[in-house]
Amino acid sequence: MDIEGLQRSILDWYGANARSLPWRRPPGEGRKGPAPDAYHVWLSEVMLQQTTVVHAAPYYERFLRRWPTVTALADADDGEVMAAWAGLGYYARARNLLACARAVRDRFDGRFPETEAALRELPGLGPYTAAAVAAIAFNRPSNVVDGNVERVMARLFAVETPLPAARPELRELAAGLVFAAAPGDWAQALMDLGATVCRPRSPQCPRCPAETACAARLSGAPEGWPRKTPRNLRPDRAGVVFVLRVKGRIAVVRRPPRGLLGGMLGLPGTAWTAEGPGEAEILAAAPANLAWRDVGAVEHVFTHFRLTLRVLAAEGDPEAGFEMLEETSLGDLPSVFLKAARRALGMIGGA
Ligand code: SF4
Repeated sequence: MDIEGLQRSILDWYGANARSLPWRRPPGEGRKGPAPDAYHVWLSEVMLQQTTVVHAAPYYERFLRRWPTVTALADADDGEVMAAWAGLGYYARARNLLACARAVRDRFDGRFPETEAALRELPGLGPYTAAAVAAIAFNRPSNVVDGNVERVMARLFAVETPLPAARPELRELAAGLVFAAAPGDWAQALMDLGATVCRPRSPQCPRCPAETACAARLSGAPEGWPRKTPRNLRPDRAGVVFVLRVKGRIAVVRRPPRGLLGGMLGLPGTAWTAEGPGEAEILAAAPANLAWRDVGAVEHVFTHFRLTLRVLAAEGDPEAGFEMLEETSLGDLPSVFLKAARRALGMIGGA
């Protein structure tokens, strides 16, 4: 099956099997009628970052009844929004939600910007959410890649590189398949395929529209993808750290007394895990709502794992709870954080 055949097959399957979700337009409608409202798409994607469709749907409907537009949400009382959010997990996401709504009201006259790049400038909008809003609400040919799409790509193309190192390759493979004539439908088709058919432990290949094109299926053991690092090698872990700079100092945290680098100073960031952090975890770990710049990654080898640390940098004031370290004292940091801080400061013009 060539790429066009694969796209057509997946879109036809989506046309017949799309999940009916409160924030969705039926397949094809986004192309004919008005596109889905960007506020609806954004709100649903933020809610779904760490919970299931079933759990998020009533919250979504309550939010829309109470705050029917992004401007209404922007004008809401902080405490009321926090209370309405209770049960959806990380409050950092609710704070980001409000900050983003207010930025849309104040900077864009209450209308979400349409491009992925402009969406990324909004507080709390990471690469996945920006791409999803651009594709679904504005029919931009964005490459929308979450864990489900990564799994589908790893299987379709039988990618042998294990996660998380395979991420750039999987993203590139997904980019090569984006259906530019209906990017919103395409993004949602892949989401649905990953969520309902190409499931992590039990892919339902006989029901899959990509079955005849799928290299993992042809291998006879599709559940073996995405590949994981073999246990007997030093495993890979991935995380994200933040270098927040203000007036010649950077924000640091004292690490918990027990565990790796216990009691030492460190940079704020996510946990270090085999899968690497998701977008919600990254947002929750950010020390401030700022436009974070990705300045690349640093590698560090510990005795029992190899760490890839993505470094995000910004200038501005942290929220409460951070110590400030003079840039002239970076040597106080353990070497893994020193590498990350030097990388960031080198890129944003510091030490
Ligand atoms: Fe996933 Fe099976 Fe479909 Fe391949 S054929 S994409 S493994 S469900």
